[in-house]
Amino acid sequence: MKELIVRTSQRDQFINITREVQQAVAESGVQDGVCTVFVPHTTAGITINENADPDVVADILYALDKAVPWASLYYRHGEGNTAAHVKASMMGSSTHVIVRNGRLQLGTWQAIYFCEFDGPRSRKVWVTVT
Ligand code: ZN
Repeated sequence: MKELIVRTSQRDQFINITREVQQAVAESGVQDGVCTVFVPHTTAGITINENADPDVVADILYALDKAVPWASLYYRHGEGNTAAHVKASMMGSSTHVIVRNGRLQLGTWQAIYFCEFDGPRSRKVWVTVT
């Protein structure tokens, strides 16, 4: 297993980690298999989406914020970061990508994004290839 360190700079932020995950795949030596990318945090997630137009990521962040506002009179969690927990669960804590000939099999317009929802922080991402 390879551990990546991701440093985020904003409260809500998507960071393209495709290159780092591909590097972990290369280091694993596995030619054909499945890559698992797992985020061991409760206020961050992982997702695969468009890598070409950065407006897509901006719009996803906007839509998530619209759906799950940071502040609400009805939130009960005392830490004050309920929205981050909800958004993290919406994205999920892991994703899988097929590996073929040592390469991640992503679509042309796809990238793997680490999703920060309670930054800025230093975060971990665990990558395995089986
Ligand atoms: Zn919390």
